[in-house]
Parts: sequence; structure tokens; C-alpha cells
Amino acid sequence: MNGKLYIVATPIGNLEDITLRALKVLKAVDIIAAEDTRHTLKLLNHFEISKKLISYYKQNEKSKSDVIIAELLAGKDVAVVSDAGTPGISDPGEEVIKLAIENNIEIIPIPGCVAFVNALIASGMSTKEFCFQGFLETNKKNKKEKLSSLIYETRTIILYEAPHKMKTTLQDIFDILGDRNIVLARELTKIHEEFIRDKISNILQSNQEFKGEFVIIIEGSKISKQEKDTKELTSLTLEEHYNYYNEQGLDKKEIIKKVAKDRNVNKNEIYKHFLNKE
Ligand code: SAM
Repeated sequence: MNGKLYIVATPIGNLEDITLRALKVLKAVDIIAAEDTRHTLKLLNHFEISKKLISYYKQNEKSKSDVIIAELLAGKDVAVVSDAGTPGISDPGEEVIKLAIENNIEIIPIPGCVAFVNALIASGMSTKEFCFQGFLETNKKNKKEKLSSLIYETRTIILYEAPHKMKTTLQDIFDILGDRNIVLARELTKIHEEFIRDKISNILQSNQEFKGEFVIIIEGSKISKQEKDTKELTSLTLEEHYNYYNEQGLDKKEIIKKVAKDRNVNKNEIYKHFLNKE
């Protein structure tokens, strides 16, 4: 019989955040696949767990997934952990899970810490709808393109960032998204846990040093892309508005329907306008 693959969340700072179930699973499995075995060893030693460890990190994720699957197919139970928080969330995990599904291996998630969830819930920003972007691209051009694609994102935006890149990233956010309200959730669950809630400009001007780990929460755009486009269209004359859709190859009936909808008026009014011109 195949073994089971457990995806186990571990603390993001405070070791007391490990769950009873996570401890039970880590004690029971045959193998623990860890992002950094030395890091995980400290956690295991703290809880007096001794276990065979396999290193499983981003750069060897594909090749090590085969090793893990071979162990699972041989009937061994394996737990995947990352350095902190939930595997697969800006951390390795995805590859082995896909492969396990292909091999009909049972996957059991063991819930626990995720840095961005805790940052979001305490941020004071809208939690109704949010979009988690993880780390932005390291390539400057791609990073700016990604931020540009978020200009009209109305949901709360969540980013992860390394401390040494915080200043540049905040400046990029300011340049591309404007002077938004943001929340920096720093050192969550640790002694120096802190929430900095301010406009980006104030944070940049304060010239503060960014020490520790951060989650960046950005207020969503006040206006959606659709609202912006509609606003622009309704400032046109009816003829210009008509031509805009005409150039997209729509037929007359469709155009009149769209123009009426954009302007929030009855389509008969638009019909009448163009009828008088004929
Ligand atoms: N898998 C993790 C999770 O479930 O949140 C995320 C791992 S990712 C490699 C590391 C990033 O998560 C950090 O650069 C930081 O943005 C965020 N992070 C992790 N722990 C944190 C903490 N205690 N406080 C604030 N941010 C944290």
C-alpha cells in the first residue's frame, strides 16, 4: 500500500504555534522532507522528535520530488515541511503534490501558520476580498510590469518581501500604485512583532531601517479598470462613444446596448439620438 503525504505547517517564529496534530504527524511519519534540514532539525530537537530527513528545496524540488514519491510508493509516510509556515505558500511543495496526485497518493494537509493570513487579519484593511501575490519578480522589468498589472486591482493586495529589498519595493509601489495606505506586518508571532500602518510616502520619508521579516499589505484601488474605462467613455460625445465600439467591429444593435449601459440610460434614448441624425 502507498504511504501518505502530509503537508505540515510549522511556526513562523513562535514555536508555541505548532499544532498538536502537526507534532503527532511529525512523530508518526517515516520521513520528513525539509526545505533546510538544519533549520528543521532545530524545530524537531525542540520537540524531541528524531526522524530521517530529506532535503527538499526550490532548486532541487523536481529531482527530490521523485525521491519522495519513490518512498511513498514503497509504503513510507512522508511529511513535507518548509522553513516557516505552510509549504507551497511561497515555499516548495507544489511539485511533490502534483506528482503525488499523478501517482494516486493520498495527500493530507495539516493546517497551521501562514504569515500573510495573520498579517491580513490584523491589518485593518478589507479582508472580504484579497489577492496574494507572494514575492514580486526579482527581474526589475518584470517586477514593474507585475506592479503595473495591479494598478486597478480593487482587492487588498498582499506581498512578501525580503528585508534588504523593502525600501526599493516600497519605492516601486509608490511610483506605480501611488501613495496608498499600506500596512507592514513585521516579525509576526515574534518578540518584536509590529504593525506599521501609514501612507507609503510617510514610511519612505521616515527613513527607517527594515529589520526582520515583513508582509506588505496594500489598500486596493478605489476604482476598477472597468469603472475607469466607463468614466473615460462617458466623457466622450455620443458619436465618439458609438465609434469606439464601431471600430471594435460590433453591430449597431450591440453598440447601442453597450453605449446605453455605459451611460446608465435606456437604450431607446440612444436609438432616438441616432435616428434623428439619419
Ligand atoms: N511559507 C511561508 C508562509 O506560509 O507564510 C512563507 C515563506 S516565504 C519564503 C518567507 C516570507 O514570508 C518572508 O520574506 C516574509 O515576507 C514572510 N514571513 C514569514 N514569516 C514571517 C514573520 N514571522 N513575520 C512577517 N513576515 C513573515
